[in-house]
Amino acid sequence: MRLAIFGDIHANLEALNAMLADAQAQGVTDYVCLGDIVGYAANPHECVEIVRGLGCPVVKGNHDEQASITEDLAGFNPLAEEAINWTRKQLSDEDKDWLRNLKMVRQVRDFTIVHATLDTPTKWGYVFNQLDAEASFTYQHTQLCFYGHTHAPRAYIRDGSVRSQALDKLVLEPGKKYFVNVGSVGQPRDGDWHAAYCIYTPAEQRVDLRRIEYDIWSAQDKIVAAGLPQRLADRLALGK
Ligand code: ZN
Repeated sequence: MRLAIFGDIHANLEALNAMLADAQAQGVTDYVCLGDIVGYAANPHECVEIVRGLGCPVVKGNHDEQASITEDLAGFNPLAEEAINWTRKQLSDEDKDWLRNLKMVRQVRDFTIVHATLDTPTKWGYVFNQLDAEASFTYQHTQLCFYGHTHAPRAYIRDGSVRSQALDKLVLEPGKKYFVNVGSVGQPRDGDWHAAYCIYTPAEQRVDLRRIEYDIWSAQDKIVAAGLPQRLADRLALGK
């Protein structure tokens, strides 16, 4: 069994398709989605259809939440807000119902998935450092938990104290806990424009980060053609 753990697609269809093709080529057998399927790029409906079609475990992201409700936006920057208002018009009622009903936290096999943090998953806080990770670890009852939200791949490891390391190839060791950010498929913010996701191989207790080339120019053109802010297209190439 090999699981593709992916999230923060943000309506970037080109990145999602490239990531799925890579997963297939890598012999992935199962999929797990960490949320933020929509928001920012030009294909929210298509991305929802594809992820829903995988029939895999999915948790809700803050953009999924905002796009699927009718209330005013809270805590979103102007760029994200403009994209959400546009996204709401692109999604069918069925898409919105599905997004609205996603769970915040799930256990899949022997690991946990959440979009933002385990300590306050509905508040959409960000895990940027050891202290943030420590708070989340308090609520982590499995050895391994995958999360997204910051769009930057990283592994936090609790072994007495909490430390963090860049994520490339990670082999899990008994007695330690792991809080692993798999990066973002559709809008990486770690300075690398390539779509990011992870493959988890339980039999080897191993997590591998993958970075995938995709047709970024088409994704950018569609953002501009949709009338979405130019900055949302530009940032894809910068990886931030
Ligand atoms: Zn996101």
